[in-house]
This record gives sequence, C-alpha cells and structure tokens, in this order.
Amino acid sequence: MNRIYLDHTATTPLDLRVMEAMRPCFSGTFGNASSVHSYGRDARELLERARGLIAQAVGAEPAEIFFTSGGTEADNLAITGVMSAVRGREGIVTSLAEHHAVLEPCRSLAANGKDVSFLPVDPHGAVDIDALRREVGGGTALVSIMHANNETGTISAIQPIAAVAHQAGALFHTDAVQSAGKIPLDVRALGIDLMTLSAHKMYGPKGIGALFVRRGVPLDPMLHGGGQERGRRPGTENVPLAVGFAEAFRLALEERAEESARLGSLRDALERRVRELFPRVIVNGDPGARLPHILNISFPADVFLLEGDMLVMNMDLEGIAVTSGSACTSGSLDPSHVILAMGRDEKTAKATLRFSFGKGNTADDVEYVAGKLDVVIRRMLKKPAG
Ligand code: PLP
Repeated sequence: MNRIYLDHTATTPLDLRVMEAMRPCFSGTFGNASSVHSYGRDARELLERARGLIAQAVGAEPAEIFFTSGGTEADNLAITGVMSAVRGREGIVTSLAEHHAVLEPCRSLAANGKDVSFLPVDPHGAVDIDALRREVGGGTALVSIMHANNETGTISAIQPIAAVAHQAGALFHTDAVQSAGKIPLDVRALGIDLMTLSAHKMYGPKGIGALFVRRGVPLDPMLHGGGQERGRRPGTENVPLAVGFAEAFRLALEERAEESARLGSLRDALERRVRELFPRVIVNGDPGARLPHILNISFPADVFLLEGDMLVMNMDLEGIAVTSGSACTSGSLDPSHVILAMGRDEKTAKATLRFSFGKGNTADDVEYVAGKLDVVIRRMLKKPAG
C-alpha cells in the first residue's frame, strides 16, 4: 500500500545529512563538554560551534542561546523563568490559540496567584491587537504570543505585538517552533526578548531545542544542580543533538526559498482539490499570513456531521498520516482548542483535518490524497453534502 506522511507539523524525519553530522559525536568526540581535558575541550568546541550557527540563524549572539530538551521545556523555562525573576509585576498576557507548552505553565502560574490573561483570536486565528493593548499594562511582566500556529499555520504580526509589550515595559516571548526555518526570523528586527526553538520540526533530532534569551533579560532556572548553560539550564550538554540541531537549521535556511515555494504549491493544489470536492469546506488559517506547508480544514457540522478522529483513522487505513488537532491532544476526543478559539462550534471543530507537507511529498501525493479523502468522506457521511 502507498504510505504518505502528511504530518510534518507533528514531527519530521531526520535528514540523513544531519545524521552524518551527528555520527562522530556519539563515539569519537564523546567527551563531557564541561570537562577541562582535551576530550571535554573537543566536545565544547563542537557545542559552541552549534550554538554559534543557531544564533546566526536567528540574528542573535551565541551567548543568548540556551539549549534545552525541546520546545516544551524552552516554553516552560521562558514563562516560569521570567515570572520568577521579574520583581513587582505579576501579569502574563498570552492567547487562547497558543500551544499547550505555553498555555499549561500559564495556567499553573494562574493557579499560584499570577494574573494571567488569555486573549481571544479572530476567525483567522490572529491575535486582536486592540484586545492586547487593553490587557497589557504596568503590571504585565511578560507577553507570550506564538510566531506561527502549529495547527493552522497562521503567522502572528510579531513586530507590533512586541512593540505593545515594550511600550508597557513588559518582556516579549514568542514560540517559533513551527516558523523557524520556514519563514524569515530575526530576533532583533522583530523585537523579541525570548524565543523558543525545537529541532525535530526542521528535520533535526528529537529531544533538543533552545531558548533565545536577549542579553539582560532576567530569567531564573527551572532546574538546579549544575552550572551548564551559564546556570540557566543545568545538566550535561547534549553535544550530538546540538550539532544535529545546528546542521538541520543550516540546511533549512539554505533550502528555504525553494522548498517553501514547492511546499506552498503542493498545499495550494490540495486546497483547490478539496474545495472542488467539498465546496462547503472551511479552510482554517489566515489566507494572507500562513505557513506554506499547512492545510487545515473543517467540515461544517450542519452539512457533513463527521468525527475528526474517525477521519484520521480512516485516512490511516488508506495509508495517509494526517491529524485532527495538535499531536499532543490527539488520542483524546476533545476538539482543538485553537479551532474553537477561532469561533467554530464544537462539532465543526471536531471535524477538522490538518495536512502538513514536507520534503518527501510530491505532486502525485496531492492527487492520491484528494482521491482517498473523497472515498473516505463519502463512506463516512451520515448526511448528504449540501
Ligand atoms: N510549540 C509548538 C508551536 C509546537 O508545535 C510544539 C510541538 O508540537 C512544541 C512547542 C513542543 O516542542 P517539543 O516537541 O520540541 O517539545
């Protein structure tokens, strides 16, 4: 059976060139990067080279990049670390469409007395800047709004959002896990104080990410027990994964222009086919500001009456890997909080599918997937399409 992977937003396969870059670090240069002897110094050199490449990729200085175990940890560190270190301000402003790695630490801080506001988003999934202006004030320590949404691909207008935070004397954090390597990203040009990155969304290894922390930003560590990463993220440094992360980012930037255009045309072709097949389908995301590789659709409940999880299972039986929400929430029957925040009703939000294209996909996949979607949906339909 033909197997097609269309879930690159959940994770990407490791690029073989990344694997080759990492290979020597597992055995040859195996030293502890904090050791003073030559084994340690060799490992340190690789680690610092990787840090330098990642810093360069986002317009930061190497000393502003802190390696973590991934995006989840970097988001948690940014939010809890800033809220613990900043004195005299108790407020966080974020949005209802953030990833759980931002929402949950915010909820946990709210339960412990911090003043947390979850901003609404518009029907395209974008933060309402006027609502942001109303919420951010002298008591706000941190504003956290993601660069691009992992479910819909909607890209936030980071510069004006960061400016609102700064005008009130607050810090600005963004989760750039999905946008890094896909669209231009420069921390200085965008006015970012803290930024989350993860390697496994860009054909790098799982289990490594980074937090950019602008020089001078106060941040307490979450972990204690060692001085690594300048005390902000103790624990023996993972040199092979850092090297893989840097190589993946380097390749992503080198290939970005061509690959983004290619993925965008595959996505647009699938969107056209889906609209032809199901004229009443809703395409979620901002048509004017969307990541190139994501197509997120909902079947309106008044017309289709479909269950997203059943759709995913039926597509899987046809060999096609897609998802109905974020990977972290699939397995539960809850509708996507992002699609709900965009104003869809619960049944429509449940009847949602996300296709995310990547390096291995071709134009042939588009026709095949559209054909199978048609077969699956017509099989599942309890109510004829209107
Ligand atoms: N933030 C966003 C926007 C994501 O899409 C993800 C992963 O799905 C994460 C954070 C978590 O990253 P990681 O899997 O590296 O912990």
